[in-house]
Amino acid sequence: MSWQQRIQQALEERQRSATYRQRQANMGGGGRYLQLNDQHYLNFSGNDYLGLGQHDDVIAAWQQGAMRYGVGSGGSGHVTGFCHAHDELEQKLAEWLGYPRALLFISGYAANQAVLAALMQADDRILADKLSHASLLEAATHSPAQLRRFRHNQPQALATLLEKTCIGQQLAITEGVFSMDGDSAPLAELHRLTQQAGAWLMVDDAHGIGVRGEQGRGSCWQQGVHPEVLVVTFGKAFGVSGAAVLCDEPLAEYLLQFARHLIYSTSMPPAQACALQAALRCIQQGDALRERLQNNIQHFRAGVAGLPLALTVSDTAIQPLLVGDNQRALDLAQRLRERGLWISAIRPPTVPPGGARLRITLTAVHQSEDIDRLLEVLHGICH
Ligand SMILES: *Cc1c(COP(=O)(O)O)cnc(C)c1O
Repeated sequence: MSWQQRIQQALEERQRSATYRQRQANMGGGGRYLQLNDQHYLNFSGNDYLGLGQHDDVIAAWQQGAMRYGVGSGGSGHVTGFCHAHDELEQKLAEWLGYPRALLFISGYAANQAVLAALMQADDRILADKLSHASLLEAATHSPAQLRRFRHNQPQALATLLEKTCIGQQLAITEGVFSMDGDSAPLAELHRLTQQAGAWLMVDDAHGIGVRGEQGRGSCWQQGVHPEVLVVTFGKAFGVSGAAVLCDEPLAEYLLQFARHLIYSTSMPPAQACALQAALRCIQQGDALRERLQNNIQHFRAGVAGLPLALTVSDTAIQPLLVGDNQRALDLAQRLRERGLWISAIRPPTVPPGGARLRITLTAVHQSEDIDRLLEVLHGICH
């Protein structure tokens, strides 16, 4: 098969199964709204849960950072790309989350890849929750270690795997809040099991950091768990982008030697690190924002009762409506769009086959009337 045929065939297969993905360029809109071709939509698809991507203090910090440092970092952190703004941010994150060290990465995707690639060796075993994010499962698949996946949020399934002999080290992987279901992992139970087995636990808290726990310290803090490796990302509640790995001193030093995504890649712009420090301050003082978000979540869940579509067990900003069929999910998303609501249909392979859904995300910037409008339209089109 030629290159052209291979590509054509793959595209046709995506069309046939209604899993073809297309992007649409928008004009922004301030978080609450999304503007496309002169149309305004209420945005129920973003991950900017606290609206910090549009926050005056965060924007001003980015601008001031750019005036001071310029727009780029100029290199890898190992050369000249590690500035005071990065150093300060790492120290503030470490202190906030109660870890000796934090290391910045340009994205959560890169952080997950880097940690697994640096840590795992051939005799080792990775035990990952089945619904772990693509960045984790992909890195695990490519690693020389053995990969075993355990039933979603089932500590007993992890326990069974941990008991099997392994001549190397074992690393269990889970998320704090699952990105496509919005449910939370039983972190305390998982960590108790890994500690008992002499294994490590790695938690990716992309969707928990900033919104869960005291001062927004995330799912681990909320559950009183201190995993050996904690990954937090800045593209969701921080409203920016980037990520950090929280860990102890020796692991941080090890990653600085062996994490290739740190060594061979340009570090984030220092102005971005300034913006992230401002976002961190907003999060630390963000009880009112988190309360608004919680109110919106409760408002939505109460109003959705009676719809013929099931919600997942979620008390987080991620409130998916399970549809099942790919085409039906696309049709519903289209009808919502015609009524001024922007909600993405999430289809396989992002979710399991037959698991297509409308992934509704709520934020602190949604007004009560926005939730009412969403509920009214959903009740109108789903019957
Ligand atoms: C978004 C996400 C990532 C990727 O983070 P980026 O910073 O966007 O690359 C990783 N893990 C989970 C669970 C996520 O939801």
